[in-house]
Amino acid sequence: MRYSQYLLPTLKETPGDAEVISHQLMARAGMIRKVAAGIYDYLPLGLRVIRKVENIVREEMNRAGAIELLMPSVVPADLWEETGRWQQYGKELLRIKDRKDTEFCFGPTHEEVVTEIVRGTVNSYRQLPINLYQIQTKFRDEIRPRFGLMRGREFIMKDAYSFDLDDAGASASYEKMYQAYRRIFERCGLKFRAVEADTGNIGGSSSHEFMVLAETGEDDIVSCDACEYAANVEKAELRPSTTLASATQPLVEVDTPNRKTIEEVSAFLKVAATQTVKTLIVQNERKETLAVLLRGDHDLNEIKLCRLLDCNEIEMASEETVQAVTGAPSGFAGPVGLKVRIIADQEVQGLSDYVIGANALDTHFVGANHGRDFAVETFADLRQAQAGDSCPRCEGALEVWRGIEVGHVFKLGTKYSEAMGATVLDDQGQDRTLVMGCYGIGVGRTAAAAIEQNHDANGIIWPMPLAPFQIIISVLNPNAAEVLEAGETLYAQLLERGIEVLLDDRDERPGSKFKDADLLGIPLRVTVGARGLKEQCYELQNRRSGERAMLPMVEAATQLAAQVHSALNAEAGG
Ligand code: ATP
Ligand code: MG
Repeated sequence: MRYSQYLLPTLKETPGDAEVISHQLMARAGMIRKVAAGIYDYLPLGLRVIRKVENIVREEMNRAGAIELLMPSVVPADLWEETGRWQQYGKELLRIKDRKDTEFCFGPTHEEVVTEIVRGTVNSYRQLPINLYQIQTKFRDEIRPRFGLMRGREFIMKDAYSFDLDDAGASASYEKMYQAYRRIFERCGLKFRAVEADTGNIGGSSSHEFMVLAETGEDDIVSCDACEYAANVEKAELRPSTTLASATQPLVEVDTPNRKTIEEVSAFLKVAATQTVKTLIVQNERKETLAVLLRGDHDLNEIKLCRLLDCNEIEMASEETVQAVTGAPSGFAGPVGLKVRIIADQEVQGLSDYVIGANALDTHFVGANHGRDFAVETFADLRQAQAGDSCPRCEGALEVWRGIEVGHVFKLGTKYSEAMGATVLDDQGQDRTLVMGCYGIGVGRTAAAAIEQNHDANGIIWPMPLAPFQIIISVLNPNAAEVLEAGETLYAQLLERGIEVLLDDRDERPGSKFKDADLLGIPLRVTVGARGLKEQCYELQNRRSGERAMLPMVEAATQLAAQVHSALNAEAGG
């Protein structure tokens, strides 16, 4: 591709709404352009990267035996009625009507559509297992679209769906996808972890998220420093503490003027936060109010609490409710004398003689003990895992990371096949409900995550497998005939070898060409200038390492092609 003839609108200024580096760099490198909130043009350079990700995904899905098809984006409401999701799916579902007032949605995910295909076309166990996938534009009306392609409203997803005769088959299909996902993200050149994930509202029994490790990730994940255990903090289990509580101090009310937070109270009373217990007054969607006790330095994991209470949502109670329930303003709530259900994190069970709110303004208790001073209905694992916690599987300790969820594999069970009557005949001639799995990868999000992991102050540093071009040839003075000719010659030689090359033939100053080359992040830059030509050389610079080398013209194309191929293979892990 000739830069002078390409559409590559690089920007000097970062768009004001670009909060994270990948969004900033994608916009500045002329990869994407915003059309509306969460809706983007993929400009030519951006599309090249998207296609790279798609091709890796496609190759690995095919290798794993999945079959590509393409389902419609616009899906009739009827299908979604069959599973009840037309009613259940919230505002993320973009509902549309055609000219006859028939209802449709723009598909955010395709369980219903694919199950309908299989219901109508697969009748016998002999056709199983089957795994169907597509790479398609999805729409989810995200409440807060942000971070560019990372959380768009319209975005490209690979979604796959497996169908098996029984659970054992479904587990084997799941394992195949899990391994395919590992290969995909390895081939993309990304540092990632596969973590155990909560199964959320989709239901199903088991699920892993593939997380690219990056500071700007929206998810917290934990991993053990000794074994393979890794999980989303939403899911991470914690072990009960083994110490047992026994009261030694009397319950005494103390003044804590204006001290509401754990830090304020523990500093004022000169006790460690680990000797305090906080009381959260919360409500679920059924408007049940309850008190949840946690050690002062621990945080509530709402998902664990929802599971315990069999509800979907937990909210901190309003100030009025706190007043009504405790008789005091928030900041002083405590369990003693409280009339609502009291639930406590398992680690409170091992504490004694702690500090706790006294349900009166500017007052706390010291020497508080459950059992003696108040009763706890249930102790359970309710808190968020944090760095240093013990691993639930071994003697190791947990580390905390931030991650970007780029992929998700899910055992669905029979939720959709049962609702939609997707069955096959088994070898006994009996009807059997299909057991399903679903598997998603965010294509644009993967490209964005790659930038989060691979950039410096000057721009993107593409891993070779995702690079929009593998080599950029910067012709320093294209007005000098012999310089342009030398650039053109190398360009032709590289194209002949199947290398993807951007020839910077623009009439621009060398400084701005180098700046753009750095911004675009093309792994290898070859500079063609009068000085090098005198010595029959090009100059090669590696974008990542900054290393420079002189390349004799006669062997340049061969050497460069070899470097590209070895970088591709290295990142493919082979
Ligand atoms: P998140 O928790 O980030 O909203 P999700 O759990 O809703 O993700 P899935 O339904 O599992 O996501 O979708 C599969 C994949 O699609 C995700 O792993 C992610 O890579 C991608 N994805 C989901 N939502 C978006 C979005 N709004 N923009 C870009 N990619 C997305
Ligand atoms: Mg989502």
